[in-house]
Amino acid sequence: MQLIEEWPRSLEAWNRSKQSLSGGVSTGLRAHMPPHPLTFERGVGATIFDIDGNAYTDYVLGWGPLFLGHSHPEVVSRVGAQLELGQTFGSGHRAEYEAAERVLDAVPGAERVIWSNTGSEANQSAFRLARAFTGKQKVLKFVGNYHGWLDNVLLSYRGEGATHTPRPGTGTIGQSRAAMSDVIVAPWLDVDRARELIEADNDVAAVIIEPVLANTGVLAASHTQLQALREMCTELGVILIFDEVITGFRLALGGACEYFGVTPDLSVFAKSVASGFSLAAIAGRADVIDQVNHGVVHAGTYNGNPIVLAAACATLDVLKRDQPYERLAALANTLAEGANRIFAAHGVVASAHAVGPVVQMAWGVDRVESVEQYHAADWSKYDELIVALLRRGEFVLPGGRWYLSTAHTSEIVQASLSHLDAAVAALAKGTK
Ligand code: PMP
Repeated sequence: MQLIEEWPRSLEAWNRSKQSLSGGVSTGLRAHMPPHPLTFERGVGATIFDIDGNAYTDYVLGWGPLFLGHSHPEVVSRVGAQLELGQTFGSGHRAEYEAAERVLDAVPGAERVIWSNTGSEANQSAFRLARAFTGKQKVLKFVGNYHGWLDNVLLSYRGEGATHTPRPGTGTIGQSRAAMSDVIVAPWLDVDRARELIEADNDVAAVIIEPVLANTGVLAASHTQLQALREMCTELGVILIFDEVITGFRLALGGACEYFGVTPDLSVFAKSVASGFSLAAIAGRADVIDQVNHGVVHAGTYNGNPIVLAAACATLDVLKRDQPYERLAALANTLAEGANRIFAAHGVVASAHAVGPVVQMAWGVDRVESVEQYHAADWSKYDELIVALLRRGEFVLPGGRWYLSTAHTSEIVQASLSHLDAAVAALAKGTK
């Protein structure tokens, strides 16, 4: 095992980058990765290489999209072939319907697809479709759920205030108060409270939910809870949106919809659908989505361009053929159980659990089963664990989420567990 002491080239690159690129990296979240954002140059399978010459097992996976690992040969070859043929045509092309057919084939109950570029953007399209369909204005979301960085939904995602009245500035400085006033917030999975709020407001077009609250603790809803939400939305004439940006094609080929056996009106996909290329999809009821042919504007220069859809076709073909879901769920359990044994052996209070191929770890709490428990964890101590893991060749996200890809094997996970063991031991002893 190599013990990495410093990252001089990464630090130099970041310092140079900050002179031209504000923050030195392209999102605020990346800027806060401990000890400082590393600079990478290559990824293969489950391994990522930094410019200091270090190799890491990658559990970040680009913050989620690389469900097939880095540079999957079938994705690279299909995208490469498309690159030769042209980058964007500004009109129809085959991959846009071939990929849509694959989505309909995979997602139970989905009748139609439209393409978009990012999860944030696609959620806004889903809201617009819901408003047009219902003639109502507002969206109800749940505490702790993240639905992108745009003004109306960037609130209560850190778990602050299970209040239904969004407060100015809760998400970001510069946030539009008008946009926020279109959103109301219910406590996580409190269907009765959601019903009260919708009935009292009488202007709610859509309910949006992460069926597994991946952004706050990887908390899985149950079939019963989602079914109750489904029935409530049908009864009240509200469009139910599953935000499957993380769960889509990852929990099961048909995402949370298949996993939980509950069909929303609309599902929003991104990340895993295109192996790192910028693609999002809204899929669901034809009568809701087909409004794009009758007055609902759905625009975007880059929507459904051939490059990203070549990536989607290859990705969905691989997933359908290989069906990695059972293997990865078992592997994620092995990782979580192994981590729990390590925490116990070192006498530290920390926890790990898995949902599908995603693991949630947390330091300073013995379980994460609620939004509150997630926020009670000691995330600055966890940041120290991240650095201890980096030193041992493991690249993990802040906030405790570990993503597994189809390139992760049990040998790789066993090696990561032995590095976790050494990292936890170091933290417990106060050494590096
Ligand atoms: N919804 C969920 C559940 C997400 O996790 C994210 C991103 N992490 C988004 C929406 C926003 O997607 P994007 O970053 O592609 O805009």
